[in-house]
Amino acid sequence: MKYCTKCGAELVDEAVVCTKCGCIVDPSFQMQQTQKSEKESTAIGILAIVFGALGGIVGLILSIVGICIYKEPANRRNCYIGLGLFIAWIFIFIIYYAVIISTLGTTIPYY
Ligand SMILES: [Zn+2]
Repeated sequence: MKYCTKCGAELVDEAVVCTKCGCIVDPSFQMQQTQKSEKESTAIGILAIVFGALGGIVGLILSIVGICIYKEPANRRNCYIGLGLFIAWIFIFIIYYAVIISTLGTTIPYY
């Protein structure tokens, strides 16, 4: 036999919700729920990093979606990393093309 932490009502040992006040009394049940939601929500952040690292537009979309959806600081950080990686790719491409254009400019003779 155990007791509700909120109202003190007597409950059976297997009880997860208090029959009197309706609050969750089993801490392991509560933990399972938070773990489940955490597991679900980290997926976008991880994908944002992966696609951000690959340099795709998908990385940008996932990062923005994640930043809008997430409330957990750790998940938001993942999205910012993904966004940062995407921006890094854009800079790499800009530098890459700038180098190509500048080398073409020097190799093509002007008359
Ligand atoms: Zn209760």
